Amino acid sequence: MNIYNAKQTRQIEAAIAAAGTDYLQMMEQAGQAVARNILCQSTTNPDQTKAVILCGQGNNGGDGLVVARRLCQEGWEVSVVFPGGLSKTPDSIHMLERLKALSVSILDPLNSPNEKENAFSLIRSAHWIVDALFGIGFHGIIGEPYDEYIKAVEESKATVVAIDIPSGAHCDTGLVQGPCIQADHTVTFFSHKPAHLIYPAAQYCGKLKVEPLSFTHQMEASIETMQHTPVFEEVKNWFPSRHPNSHKGSFGKLLCICGKAGMTGAAELSAKAAMRCGAGLTYLMTPKDACTALSCKLTEPVLIPLSQSSEGTLSHQSIPTILEQLSSTSACLIGCGMGDNAQTQAVLDAVLQHAKCPVIIDADGINALSHHIDRLKEPTAPVILTPHPGEMSRLTGKSIAEIQENRLQTAMEFVQEYPVTLVLKGAGTIIALPDGHIWINSTGNPGMAKGGSGDVLAGMISAFVAQGIEVGNAVVAAVYLHGLAGDRGVQHFSQHAMLASDLISMLPGIFLDLEK
Ligand code: ADP
Ligand code: ADP
Ligand code: MG
Repeated sequence: MNIYNAKQTRQIEAAIAAAGTDYLQMMEQAGQAVARNILCQSTTNPDQTKAVILCGQGNNGGDGLVVARRLCQEGWEVSVVFPGGLSKTPDSIHMLERLKALSVSILDPLNSPNEKENAFSLIRSAHWIVDALFGIGFHGIIGEPYDEYIKAVEESKATVVAIDIPSGAHCDTGLVQGPCIQADHTVTFFSHKPAHLIYPAAQYCGKLKVEPLSFTHQMEASIETMQHTPVFEEVKNWFPSRHPNSHKGSFGKLLCICGKAGMTGAAELSAKAAMRCGAGLTYLMTPKDACTALSCKLTEPVLIPLSQSSEGTLSHQSIPTILEQLSSTSACLIGCGMGDNAQTQAVLDAVLQHAKCPVIIDADGINALSHHIDRLKEPTAPVILTPHPGEMSRLTGKSIAEIQENRLQTAMEFVQEYPVTLVLKGAGTIIALPDGHIWINSTGNPGMAKGGSGDVLAGMISAFVAQGIEVGNAVVAAVYLHGLAGDRGVQHFSQHAMLASDLISMLPGIFLDLEK
């Protein structure tokens, strides 16, 4: 599904206007849609009908004025507060004029300071607060006089509904650089915008509702975007059905180079996840001692013990055997629980120099790579990196805070410098493809914030790539389904108790749905 930034949203509005719905009508539709959502939510507490609409001077404020009118017509007790002065854009001025005929109190505390205390007391006692301060046009940091109102909203017990984007969040980047409205619900129009999916902005949105209004599929085709979010029906199309006359060789040969003595869980989880994701054959090459431990746990993968260093990691003597296996492999996963020393770095180098199949690098593979990242400049085969923010920090030299504050830009910049597929993990995982397309994932939950979840993802990506699914689709599908496994998993296991291995137990149910 496409995501549209602020500029593309303006193009959508222009396309809708060209098709005969003018901007004022769009404002009316948007406000009515928000009011409908509030009225629908309010049925559980029908007596709670005190609403405060916080309006900015722009068109976002205009949408809020339509909400005020509609709620007032429903018999609600509605107050409109303009923290920074009355409406300024022609359409919002029009909506303000229409509102004046109704019994709505309109407060302009900036110009009538005696109304300020009243505005705060209304916010404190409201059941509903609508945030119509700023929408997609917001930039910079919220300062005076808006910041006080945002604080008051934070302290109120009201249900907060943001129109389009919580005020304080940047539409295109997901940046939140100062105070921001924490919404319980966000109602947006036409389609998702980057801020709804990218953290930190995404965490301010609460439950998201997309109202398409007059945006049609036909218009969608005419507005170009490089950003998308995966949805089930789309991902389903990327999985070919398994031909009746197929055999294990039809579904790829995956080579996993993972594990070290005393660190076998990561290798186990990634190999098991790969087997559960339909790979035809999975080979696990691992140091001798690790192999002994793993042979008690893994039945289906072919285990190949290799020579090990004194630290129990692979030694460089294992390289010829690895390269021989690599030559007949359809995808190679390297790094889960592998350890990071000079010997594993040599193994990674050898794989990167000789691979003709896609290479998926996770965990210690990424740590090993960060010592000589220039290896990535001219890869011999497609490379997929799956760093969490800590690993991304090692790769780029940026601090974790810098990365997390601007996840989208970090991911985009990285693939501009290195021609790889980057999976920047964490809530709202961002996938940056070498052709510039960006996917932002919305599945997954904090129940997955446990050791081993990432190993499961690495195995899933590798299995899909090994089966020959196009690399970009394979990666996006794996990230989406991994999060879906987490979302279904918490229904059975709870966020606290769910384990990484439980994600694997959720996969059969997911594939049953994909195969329907
Ligand atoms: P739309 O949703 O149509 O873009 P907005 O109400 O979001 O409408 O338009 C942005 C308005 O907010 C503009 O008037 C702009 O000058 C103002 N604005 C944007 N950023 C800030 C800020 N950091 N502080 C105060 N005003 C801002
Ligand atoms: P490990 O190396 O222990 O297996 P990683 O940190 O590499 O763990 O991976 C954790 C996985 O769990 C990633 O795919 C990440 O996106 C996912 N995850 C962790 N926390 C959350 C969260 N709060 N919301 C969504 N997904 C999460
Ligand atoms: Mg990991």
